[in-house]
Amino acid sequence: MARLVVVSNRVGIPDGSARAGGLEVAIRPALKRRGGVWFGWSGRVSDDAPEPARTLDKDNVSYVTVDLQKDDYEEFYNGFANRVLWPILHYRLDLAEFTRRDLGGYFRVNGFFAKNLERILRPDDVIWVHDYHLMPLAKALRERGHKNKIGFFIHVPFPPEEIITALPNHEQLIPALGYYNLVGFQTETDAANFARYLANERGLRRLDANSFAFDEGDVRIGVFPVGVETDTLQRLARRAVDSTFVREVMGSLSGRAMIIGVDRLDYSKGIPERMDAFERLLTNFPRWRGQVTYLQITPRSRTDIEEYANLGRQVGEKVGRINGAYGEASWTPVRYINKAHSRTALAGLYRAARAGLVTPLRDGMNLVAKEYVAAQNPDDPGVLILSRFAGAARECSAALLVNPYDSEGVAIAIDRALAMPLDERVQRHAANYRVLKQNDLSQWAERFLGVLERPRGAASGALPEGL
Ligand code: UDP
Repeated sequence: MARLVVVSNRVGIPDGSARAGGLEVAIRPALKRRGGVWFGWSGRVSDDAPEPARTLDKDNVSYVTVDLQKDDYEEFYNGFANRVLWPILHYRLDLAEFTRRDLGGYFRVNGFFAKNLERILRPDDVIWVHDYHLMPLAKALRERGHKNKIGFFIHVPFPPEEIITALPNHEQLIPALGYYNLVGFQTETDAANFARYLANERGLRRLDANSFAFDEGDVRIGVFPVGVETDTLQRLARRAVDSTFVREVMGSLSGRAMIIGVDRLDYSKGIPERMDAFERLLTNFPRWRGQVTYLQITPRSRTDIEEYANLGRQVGEKVGRINGAYGEASWTPVRYINKAHSRTALAGLYRAARAGLVTPLRDGMNLVAKEYVAAQNPDDPGVLILSRFAGAARECSAALLVNPYDSEGVAIAIDRALAMPLDERVQRHAANYRVLKQNDLSQWAERFLGVLERPRGAASGALPEGL
């Protein structure tokens, strides 16, 4: 089996820190199983001349990281990746702040990654590049003469061509994906959007249901929705629900039902809209006043970007308003917490919560939704309320699917979830769990790598006909 080299912006170095982020949870098991290298940014920003890459070897995996220079950090990470690509890929043209300088920094850092990666690459390594920070990495590697199999998986959505073409210089960026052998997406919608872009914008020839002929070579497109470790999370949650931490939390609610939301502080997650929906619940369904507590766990992210600071203020104000208007000395309606929690703590809280409120305005997948399902007690499960605009809605179709922009509709769904009879809860949960188990995280990476390593024509996990 060829050695696996994973490349992603951030590397999940196993140093015991409780950082939030779906990628890490998805990748590490595959790397440990196959052995290999995980390469990326150390998270450090340096003012001095670049230091050589650092390596940490653990459990069959070498974690190799490089620092970014201050300009790189501003232009590549804060700039093009997070101020341009992130909003556009999440359908938020209104929030994109494009500059040519940042685009230049983005290509420069991809070149820097390629140069450093080259030092450790072997000719038969299989390379798997992750996410929107690194779209041109294969191009940079090919220009240096590397002929390895290279796959790309984009964890975030890929919007329709009407949106992606509003990205200045998309003609330079998106076709760079043609240097990969396989490009993977979370959902069929994302893959179909990409396929339409290639056919309509680039006029590329389709070779079969899931391949296109680029000048650089044939590229396959596939759909590989990221899963969760269903049974592991189920076991973890069963234990964690009896932990001192979860008992203390539940004890402090004095028998009230709990609704839980867990999201990084990000505008794609729809947190202000969700607060509005909870406020609607208390306004339109007064029977829940004093009966239910909404716990929203929201670690801050990307704090250098103004939009994120504004969002933090906006959410804080809404929470204050709801608690001020509806709270009582003995009851706080919303508990809003910015501290990150461990997976174990979250699993226990998910299991203890009567409803999981996952209402992003747009999300590539949303692992929290799947983790919530996996953590439930199958004999007495809570109800998942899920945005139809999360990738997870495809698999969790037995959730209460909602439009996150419709706060009244979400309030109705919360009311329904809190009042749902046991047999309906059991049925909905069993249906979701069954689908998630079939797409367990343990098979996700191997499915992607299996397609990447197989010759064209023998693809699986790929696009259905007629996209
Ligand atoms: N997470 C965590 N601690 C927290 C908040 C989140 O470990 O305090 C984890 C969560 O369990 C999930 C991941 O971070 O696995 C978030 O992934 P998701 O796809 O929901 O959203 P992303 O943050 O990647 O956009």
